[in-house]
Amino acid sequence: MVGACAIGLLVPLMAIASPATERRAGEGSSGIGDSYFPLDGNGGIDVRHYDVRNSYTFNTGRLAGTTRLRVTATQDLERFNLDFLLPVNRVRVAGRRADFRRAQGHELIITPRAPLASGDRFNVKVTYAGKPGSKTYLGESNWLADSSEVVTMNEPHMAPWWFPANDHPRDKATMDVRITVPKAMKVISNGTRVSRTVRGAQATTRWRSVEPMAPYLAFFAAGRFAVRSGEAAGLPYVNAVSKRLGAPSIRSHLRQLRRSSAITAWMASQVGEYPFSSTGGVVTGLRVGFALENQTRPTYPPLPALPTSLIVHEIAHQWFGNSVSVDRWRDIWLNEGFATFMEVRYAETHGGPSGAQWLQDAYGQTSATDTFWRQRIDDPGAANIFASEVYQRGAMTLQALRQRIGDPDFWATLRSWAADRADGTGTVADFEALAESVSGEDLDGFFDAWLRTPAKPAPTAANGL
Ligand SMILES: [Zn+2]
Repeated sequence: MVGACAIGLLVPLMAIASPATERRAGEGSSGIGDSYFPLDGNGGIDVRHYDVRNSYTFNTGRLAGTTRLRVTATQDLERFNLDFLLPVNRVRVAGRRADFRRAQGHELIITPRAPLASGDRFNVKVTYAGKPGSKTYLGESNWLADSSEVVTMNEPHMAPWWFPANDHPRDKATMDVRITVPKAMKVISNGTRVSRTVRGAQATTRWRSVEPMAPYLAFFAAGRFAVRSGEAAGLPYVNAVSKRLGAPSIRSHLRQLRRSSAITAWMASQVGEYPFSSTGGVVTGLRVGFALENQTRPTYPPLPALPTSLIVHEIAHQWFGNSVSVDRWRDIWLNEGFATFMEVRYAETHGGPSGAQWLQDAYGQTSATDTFWRQRIDDPGAANIFASEVYQRGAMTLQALRQRIGDPDFWATLRSWAADRADGTGTVADFEALAESVSGEDLDGFFDAWLRTPAKPAPTAANGL
């Protein structure tokens, strides 16, 4: 603020009209318009496909590669941005060498030889090499690797550590991932394995995702893994467990991961057709304190036993988070509240307490003075998108909604949400409007009490209690 005041004294008022938000025509913006993460994603481009070809050296932690992007200009462009952290050697746009420079955060600003017109489809080829483990963005050091295993898993940011992306859920794309590592290592990624080619001491494994995917949900794991693949419950699956966990643990983790297929089928029976064409999961041997719902193939931390509820949660995200994604990160309730609610529903349908009993207990056990009730759920703040309240109160909101509008309308709402917005995004307001439209009820007061008021909802029928 001191700087802004000083400038104000020296220049005419007209000249200081929000210079930070102005941009010239033909310039793609540095962010897609997410208030929590202003540099995430970029304006002016729509990526349709990523073709990532990387090689990784375990002992140096060096990643080198080339990513080809198929892009559509959504406005006239003299230059545009991608989100990427590694040092870049070369950029080509439409087959011609392009100028590029780095800017704040993870911005890679690319200036093609010739301007692009709105609607133009063009290819971008970025060649790069560096150590992802040395890179940070917004204070996050998200590269997870040691001398014999690597797994890319994080949210909301992961792509810029290993491929140049338009890194926001609003821009989904299909994807090909080729990873080259020593041939003793295995590589697992999203979707379907296309091929594995051995050349000398190295092997290149190619995976393909035919359904559009948000960049943060793309992943690869490489290292010594026990891999099981096949078909179950009508879907191909690939399950993998790090061999460093030891034989008994590998066996028990593979047994648990095998449940992913049946849990996927169970989810489909609840909320509608599975949005993707393969399933499975990966248990890493690296020390990580969370699981992540990477598209088609969640990654799990090494635990003494992999809880079924955790698999249910990550599989539920395939519908709520991956197929229907947040439109802005403030909409995170649509991911975490929903996946947590499906854990409750799974318990209810598998010999556990009913959803009603669960809500009664959760509501009754948390006193009105508990700080738990202070967290706003529909707009938790960038630092709190993964606060436990977003999960717990978020799931309670859905059970309360179920009690407020009744089972038929509640499940019709969830199914419609998943079907109508498949491969797209939605906002909390969109979901509220859908619930009102399906139930024919005015639910403003209900959602205000559960999602927007920093207090315990009153125990009323209107609040679903
Ligand atoms: Zn989750």
